[in-house]
Amino acid sequence: MELEFCQSCSMPLHDSAIHGCEADSSPNPHYCKYCYQNGAFTSGMTMKEMIDFCTLMMVQANPGMAAQQARERMHQFFPLLLRWKK
Ligand SMILES: [Zn+2]
Repeated sequence: MELEFCQSCSMPLHDSAIHGCEADSSPNPHYCKYCYQNGAFTSGMTMKEMIDFCTLMMVQANPGMAAQQARERMHQFFPLLLRWKK
């Protein structure tokens, strides 16, 4: 099975409990519960705002990680995600 990532914030969706849900509470296959709940995105962030937010989270979770490096990686990866793909 292919490893799934949230198509909004790139968090790994390794556990069904982490999936977001539709308005009828069925799980959404593409997004995590932090990004998507009850059939809608939880915030109207732009891709840039999402990258800023995720950089902050990642640096907090991984002390010693260079913020600039994390940000550059996300700038390459995020445009491929379903939510940000044009
Ligand atoms: Zn997410």
